[in-house]
Amino acid sequence: MPELPEVETVVRGLRAPLVGRTITAVWIEQPRVIRAPDPTEFAARIVGQTITAINRRAKYILCALNDDLLVIHLKMTGRLYVAGSPETADRWVRLRLHLDDGQSLYFSDARRFGGVYLVDDLARIAPRLGPEPLDDSFTVDALRERLTGRRKRIKALLLDQSFIAGVGNIYADEALHRAGIHPLRFSDTLSGPEIARLHGAIRAALASGIDYEGASINWYRKPDGTPGESQEHFFVYGRDGQPCLTCGQLIVKIRVAQRGTHYCPNCQPEL
Ligand SMILES: [Zn+2]
Repeated sequence: MPELPEVETVVRGLRAPLVGRTITAVWIEQPRVIRAPDPTEFAARIVGQTITAINRRAKYILCALNDDLLVIHLKMTGRLYVAGSPETADRWVRLRLHLDDGQSLYFSDARRFGGVYLVDDLARIAPRLGPEPLDDSFTVDALRERLTGRRKRIKALLLDQSFIAGVGNIYADEALHRAGIHPLRFSDTLSGPEIARLHGAIRAALASGIDYEGASINWYRKPDGTPGESQEHFFVYGRDGQPCLTCGQLIVKIRVAQRGTHYCPNCQPEL
């Protein structure tokens, strides 16, 4: 699933072609993709509105319109791109928004887990999102405060969107490796220096993902259709059986919170 760096890359790529454009027509190819309101009201309300800004919160793409917020979640296989004629689109298009410059925004989603919402506030569909890890307000102290009173495997906690927003399976593994923390450690056993290392590691892993424009391991593509390169720079994710880039010991894969989890037994000892 696209995580914070992939969604951020999509948002940045959509701003130039979309901000300032007015939606002139809507084709809903798959009504199920419209989660709220019902597809008829969705179409009636969105036509005529202008896209004034595009931003990200957690893994949600937020398109501010004159009177509404268009929210898109890519889930497993969602893709967004801007193109001219429908012939250039792929066969999994679920929604097409026609724009006043003759282009269209396409939402394609092979596995149909993604969703589109027209709401006045993101809180209506995602009321309990944790802090943005790259915001200035997410300090070491803020992370320590959030850890207080919680006892959960640290990998599972990083995946919890109400604990911290935008981190998923890939960047949780990368962050824990950068911090030298075993994924099965309980959150209440982390020392002060370990919490500080984890804070820096979460931000560094996500920043690297954004710098390399996301990880194209399976479905994710940038809005221009090209792959991101973040996967070329992973320390542990998808590298089980290969030597650790830090120490040479073989990377191990286990399951934590039902997710494939990659770590180095030497750099991330189980204390
Ligand atoms: Zn190692």
